[in-house]
Parts: sequence; C-alpha cells; structure tokens
Amino acid sequence: MLLTMTGFLAGLAACGDTKKKERAEDFVWQADRFDDIKVLRYQVPDFDSLSLNQKLLVYYLGQAALCGRDILFDQNFKYNLPIRRTLEAIYEGYDGDRNDPRFAEFEKYLKKVWFANGIHHHYSMDKFTPGFDEAYFDVLVAGTPADLFPADFGTQEELMAIIKPAMFDPALYAKRVNLEAGADLLETSANNYYDGVTQREAEEFYAAMADPNDPQPVSYGLNSQLVKENGRLKERVWKLGGMYSPAIEKIVYWLEQAAAVAENPLQKQTIDALIAYYKSGDLKDFDKYNVLWVEDVDSQVDFVNGFIETYGDPLGYKASWEAIANFKNIAATKRTATISGNAQWFEDHSPIDPKYRKPHVKGVSAKVITVAMLGGDCFPATPIGINLPNADWIRRDHGSKSVTIENITYAYDQAAKGDGFKEEFVLRPEDRENMEKYGSLSDDLHTDLHECLGHASGQLAPGIKGDELKNYGSTLEEARADLFALYYLGDPKMLELGLLPTLDAAWAEYAKYMMNGMMTQLTRIQPGKNIEEAHMRNRALIANWCYEKGLPENVVEKVTQNGKTYIVVNDFEKLRGLFGDLLKEIQRIKSEGDFQAGQALVENYGVKVDPGLHAEVLERYAALDLAPYAGFVNPEYTLVKDGDRVVDVRISYPDDYAAQMMKYSKHYSYLPSVN
Ligand code: ZN
Repeated sequence: MLLTMTGFLAGLAACGDTKKKERAEDFVWQADRFDDIKVLRYQVPDFDSLSLNQKLLVYYLGQAALCGRDILFDQNFKYNLPIRRTLEAIYEGYDGDRNDPRFAEFEKYLKKVWFANGIHHHYSMDKFTPGFDEAYFDVLVAGTPADLFPADFGTQEELMAIIKPAMFDPALYAKRVNLEAGADLLETSANNYYDGVTQREAEEFYAAMADPNDPQPVSYGLNSQLVKENGRLKERVWKLGGMYSPAIEKIVYWLEQAAAVAENPLQKQTIDALIAYYKSGDLKDFDKYNVLWVEDVDSQVDFVNGFIETYGDPLGYKASWEAIANFKNIAATKRTATISGNAQWFEDHSPIDPKYRKPHVKGVSAKVITVAMLGGDCFPATPIGINLPNADWIRRDHGSKSVTIENITYAYDQAAKGDGFKEEFVLRPEDRENMEKYGSLSDDLHTDLHECLGHASGQLAPGIKGDELKNYGSTLEEARADLFALYYLGDPKMLELGLLPTLDAAWAEYAKYMMNGMMTQLTRIQPGKNIEEAHMRNRALIANWCYEKGLPENVVEKVTQNGKTYIVVNDFEKLRGLFGDLLKEIQRIKSEGDFQAGQALVENYGVKVDPGLHAEVLERYAALDLAPYAGFVNPEYTLVKDGDRVVDVRISYPDDYAAQMMKYSKHYSYLPSVN
C-alpha cells in the first residue's frame, strides 16, 4: 500500500528545523511547471555521511530503479512506448519553427506523457487531449528526419495509423483504469494488463486458481499479462526470458552489483532472493523474498523494486513496476520507533469490534527514510509513505515494513511556502495558525500512523480471503488506514508518548482533512467528472460521511462568507468519535468481506461531486495559479574513481526535467515498442 500526497498538503507551509531552513534557502525547489503539474527537486540530506560501501549500494539500487521505466509505460497502455518515442523523435529532430505557439503545446503534451508514464493522466486516469491538432502533428512528423522514429513498429504509415487515433480520438482508450460499476471493467480500461479478456473470464480464471484452504496463498496474477490465445486464457509472465525480459535483465544486473556490496548477510540474501524471483517468475519466490525483506530491519540502506501495487488494475490482480532506493533517517526514526513500540496498545484500544482486533500485532517496523532514487510507478509522481508487503498472510505471520518519506514531504512544504492557499480556503485564523505551527509534524505523524499501524491493524474473519471487496477494496483499505491514523492523532496517548506537544496539532490535521475531503481536493477533478482515484475517494468518503453524521450536533459546518464556502470543524472531540465509528464499520466490512456495504459507502460518499461547490473551488483555486499535482526530478550519482578504484560517489541535483526524461529514454530504455 502506498500513501500519496494530497494537493492541500502541498499548499500548507511547514516549519522545519532551523538547520534544514538554512540549507533550503539557496536551493531552487521547482524545476518545471506545465498544465496542472509542477516538477520539484528533492534533496538527499546526509548522503555524504554514508560509508563508501553504502553509497555504492545506493548507487547500484538507484541504477536498478531506473531500468524498469519502459515496463511501466507498456503496462499503462500498449501504445505508450511507440507514442513516447515518436514524440521524442520530434522533440529532438524537428527542424521547423520551434517558436510556433503550437510547438509549445506539443512540448507540454510530451512533458505530460513523461510525467504520467503514458497518455493517461497519472491521477485521474483519463486520457489527456493534445493542445494541438492532428494537422499540426502531421507537420511535425514531416519536419522530422524519418530515421529518428521507432523502427520496430512497422512502416511510418503503420505507426501513424495506430498512434494518431490513440492520441487524438477522445472516445478511443478514454480511461486507463475504469472503476465505474456496471461496465465490464477490463473492456472499458485501456491498461495493458489483459488482452482480449473479459472481466468475467479474468475473475473466473483467478477464482479457479485460488485455493481457499491455503494459509499462505500467493498473489495470484500479480506478475503477468493475461491474454487469450486460440480461445484459451494464458499468463505471459514478467520475468527473465519472459515478457519484459530485456528490461528485467538490466534490473537483475544492477541488483547483482548491489548484492555484492550489501551491508550484511541478511540484506545480501534478500537481494539474492529478489534476483531469484526475477529469474523464475514464481510468485512463491516473490513471497520468500518478501519475508526476508520484512525481516531486514537493521540495514540502513533499503529499497523497493518489483511488481508491487495493483492500483492500475481495476480487478486488483496485476501490479505495476516500481522502485525506490533509500536509506534510514536515523534521527527521525526515533518517532516511528515509539509508535511501533506501542503497536499492541493501539490495536487493543482500537474502536472496532474486539473480534476483529489482532490479538498479537507482529513486527510492525516503522522508519523514516530519505529517498535517494525514484523509479517506475514512484516517479515522477511519488508516494510520501509506503507499507509493504501487500500479501495478507505475510503481514499476519511476519509483519510489515512501513516508511515515511520525509525528504519528499519536506520538498513539498518548501516549494509551497507563501503560495496563498490556506489564506484562501481556511476560514478561522486559529486553524491557519495551528496548521502553520504543527502542520508538518501532524502530517508526518499521520503518515506514520497510517502506514505502520493503520494498514497493519485488524484481522479478517475465518474464511475471508481479502479480495471480496473487488474494485472498492483499495478505497476502503485506504479509508481504514486513514481513519486509524485520524482517530489516534487526537488521542491523549499522543501527548503521553511525547509524539505531539498539544492536541491542537491533531485538530489542525482534522481541520485540513475535512476541508480537503469535502472541498479542496476537488481542484484535481475536471468539471462534470466523478472522483475515481482510490485515495481521493477515501478522503471524500470519510469527510462526507462524518459531515452528514455530525449534522444533528453541528460537528462540522459549511460556512458561507462573502459568497465563499468554508469547512469549519466546531467540535474536534466529537469528530474524533465519528472517525472511530466509521473505522469500526469499515473494519467490519473488510473483516467480513461485505461487498454490498462497502460498495454503498463508497458510491454514496466517495464518488459524486457537488457541481456548484466544485465550480466555486476550481475558480478560487485558479485565481491562485497553483498546480494541484507535483512530481520530482531525481538527483544524479557519479562514481569518483582513482584509477580503477571507486573512491566516492558524488551526488548532484539537476534542474532540467525534460533533459532528465530524454536522458532516461536514451540510456535506460530497453524494451521494444511492442511487447
Ligand atoms: Zn495507504
């Protein structure tokens, strides 16, 4: 599971410590800005304090993180690679007038394709429309040397016949992931996880594969494309020698280098197990690797690398490729150690039905990390927290590893300073003041609680597998983790443990959460559209449900002043009670696999948008001229050599987004245009 950045968080300035502030002052945080996106830079503080061996380990894991970029493009949509390569050919070789305003539109489109790892918006999943027409595209193609276009997709005519409708026909491949109930979710989704397979066929295929009595079930379907060949369903497995092999070979090569400089035997074993899994494609090997990975809590350097999250598959089987190289922030990890050290207390006091509490919470290890390299589905848009592995049985028997990514949230906060957001949307000065004072701390603590306790909490009723909630599963799981975090943020235990200086910090988070869920996150939705993305649905669900249930006692209020709507929390303690009530119900839904009740909650509170309020929010937001989405350019690492001997690894912070993307497309692109 991952936790993503909400738009409003980025709008609220934080107060980091003085040392960070000094360092931040001469750093330019924003690298690029286009459409609804800003591209930021992040720093990697304390990289120089690592040993040479650790630096090399980060370097090799970082290289491995860059090698699967093409996999994600292809997973997202089958023509993403030929489209990207065609656009890059034009970007590089077009010898016509580059000052034409339409060329600026072309560049914007290409930047969006890079950012989304394809032609569908990374967050809304909708295909975006080029700001130039097909006739101009023909001009661009004609003005570009023919030998620059991808040659592995047939003739240029054949290439254009496929990619032009994909780019310009709004009705074609309109949505990458369709979660709208009613339609066949596979036929109406443009992702490349299934080919020629109906939703029903896929569901039956995997239902037949699953053994309900297996206490350690593998994550069926996680690492393959499901296709129909001669009328029979068949998995094309992503492994060495299988689908995506050319990219996986490179990933394995760099992982082998990393294994050779591992910090300790367990970490070496872990990396070796991942390599073995990439070689076999056997999901049992994946679980073996995950068990080792969870148990490695002592290494400072760590990583995520593989087919992990299933948000891109409406049925929740297939995982997109992602990677992160990181190392532990030892000072900040003391905070999460306090939380995980008290994990059983939190579980025992959770406001859920006692039979769904975990009697023994196992190995919730939590740490704060510094990200050193982002790749695949974590790049350029990135999570701010991660909790893995996802397999329920491993979490039950071996626990899970939870991380808060502090250098990323820090970069968001720095980049958002003084942007006017909270002056526009937060009504009460005392709320604004608390957000300014405690925003950064309560955000980080929310992430810690969400990741290291929320997802790891609770247990299923006997006989429940965990996939019963289908297309509502991700939303409800995120809601469960968020509610756990929100409920405990306002608990006096936070003061007792020294995690918060005052509950005002929790109330600041409550005020923000309600405002965002009911109102300001709508800045990310186009007029007339519903809410689609799982984290956004979860936030709307929680906020709208609590607003409605609190109406009789006016717990949360919609205030109109000078024609502007504000969300104001009148009673924070009562709101906390409502968070607890909803947590109890959602835990019950998950534990019992109650699809009907889950569907009703999400559809009634998490999907629909009030058009009047939506229009107002968009207008107010537009006046601020902010970008609702952000992503990052990666730092670069260079080996410093003395003769043949590596003596250091140097880090630098490039600031040219397009240049980095072109570099990645040139040097880390291994897949053919058709896979
Ligand atoms: Zn989560």
